[in-house]
Amino acid sequence: MFNLENIVRKNILHLMPYSSARNEFSGKKGTFLDANENPFGTLNRYPDPYQMELKQILSAYKSIPLENIFIGNGSDEIIDLAFRIFCTPGKDKALTFSPTYGMYDVSAAINEVELIKLPLNDSFQINQEEFEKTLKITNLKLIFICSPNNPSGNCIDNIEKILQNFNGIVLVDEAYIDFSKQESYLSKLKQYPNLIVSQTFSKAWGLAAARVGIAYANNPIISIFNKVKPPYNVSKLNQEAAIDALNNKVDFEKNKKIILDQKKWLEQALMELPVIKKIYPSDANFLLVETTNANSIYNQLVSQQVITRNRNNIVNNCIRITVGSPAENQQLINALKNTI
Ligand SMILES: *Cc1c(COP(=O)(O)O)cnc(C)c1O
Repeated sequence: MFNLENIVRKNILHLMPYSSARNEFSGKKGTFLDANENPFGTLNRYPDPYQMELKQILSAYKSIPLENIFIGNGSDEIIDLAFRIFCTPGKDKALTFSPTYGMYDVSAAINEVELIKLPLNDSFQINQEEFEKTLKITNLKLIFICSPNNPSGNCIDNIEKILQNFNGIVLVDEAYIDFSKQESYLSKLKQYPNLIVSQTFSKAWGLAAARVGIAYANNPIISIFNKVKPPYNVSKLNQEAAIDALNNKVDFEKNKKIILDQKKWLEQALMELPVIKKIYPSDANFLLVETTNANSIYNQLVSQQVITRNRNNIVNNCIRITVGSPAENQQLINALKNTI
């Protein structure tokens, strides 16, 4: 049985959080002499520590109660908070799959947590037999599943089985879910008290510079995230950028459609090229492609000022290509035609 109190680090469970000035008095009107702010300027006041306006819009849009939403300084902050909340340094372990998003590794190392990496199979899916063996590992607290997966692009099957069989936390990283036809795991929150779904404004919402990530989970988990986060972790400018994006869904849908149409165009154009051996199916805004020689092709593209992501050291001879604007994609194809 999943029991959150057994999974959260004891020091975090008993933590008395910092109580900010805006915590202790959050009314809108008054003469504010409580936070040592400067009375002059336009960005002189601390932002809402709990980002209520942004959460209200998200709550209505996703049909998720407000108290089940946490906003982070990018979803990278959410990954780091998950390690800090659930894994005692030098003792507890976390698990993810390979190949996947590199920040799980870095964040684990920073937090001195051993990250076990299970290889995905040839279709970049979880090998269930291998996975079941890992459930016996002691002190395993946290599993990261990136779906759609970066860098392979596919959605991961059978996540629900893991939610049912693992008594720790399962964090499903849905950074690319807006590009996918598959349903988000948000719809499973009610069923699984051990589920955290993370999403971001950095990809489909076009706000990578703003650093706004979201964690959705049941309230006991969200309350602990709120206790541990820095008091004003999302700036006012960034909260406003996310609110503006949510209030402009016409542009969101329009741009997303262009990107998805361009992905199809790019797949077709890439298939014609002799240096491309394989294009993996993608539910995201990028394509993982196997080339005749990734290191050489990557460098030949750089010399023509087209920058892709060389993934050769994690998936043999593969490069990851982000779907760009029509002009950018044409530049890529032109440059690839000059490669050997
Ligand atoms: C890009 C990416 C993120 C980063 O999200 P931020 O909100 O920009 O921190 C998280 N997870 C995956 C899998 C990504 O590819």
